[in-house]
Amino acid sequence: MAIISCQLVEFNCIYMKLTHIEHIGIAVKNLEESISYYEDVLGLKCYAIEEVKDQKVKTAFFMVGETKIELLESTDPEGPIGKFLEKKGEGVHHLAFAVDGIENALEELKTKGVQLVDQAPRKGAEGLDIAFLHPKSTKGVLTELCENKNK
Ligand code: ZN
Repeated sequence: MAIISCQLVEFNCIYMKLTHIEHIGIAVKNLEESISYYEDVLGLKCYAIEEVKDQKVKTAFFMVGETKIELLESTDPEGPIGKFLEKKGEGVHHLAFAVDGIENALEELKTKGVQLVDQAPRKGAEGLDIAFLHPKSTKGVLTELCENKNK
């Protein structure tokens, strides 16, 4: 689907379709301790632990309905989560929406003046295609778009 930019601006059309909150990313200092909290206190089950080398993180996943909780432990103080922890401490790091057609969604957002961290989708945890939007353009929330093209 081609997006005609002048139409978008003029009529403020929204073509992209966010389907649900795919996950909430939470920065933690210690993955093991945090997994214990989510399992023993909240009663969720960690179903996967995965290292994402280029993001310098180790992740742990829990399912809550259709939405996941993604715990992020830094593997390098200079990585994005390492810097976040240093600056802000533990807590919510980003919000991820599932979207149908991530490339078109990014095009549309660009047309609407949203600053993109990733100009094109890249591979994230669990083999999803992901892209981040800059929090300056998203009312302070680091926002991720995800598409599962393997389903
Ligand atoms: Zn994420």
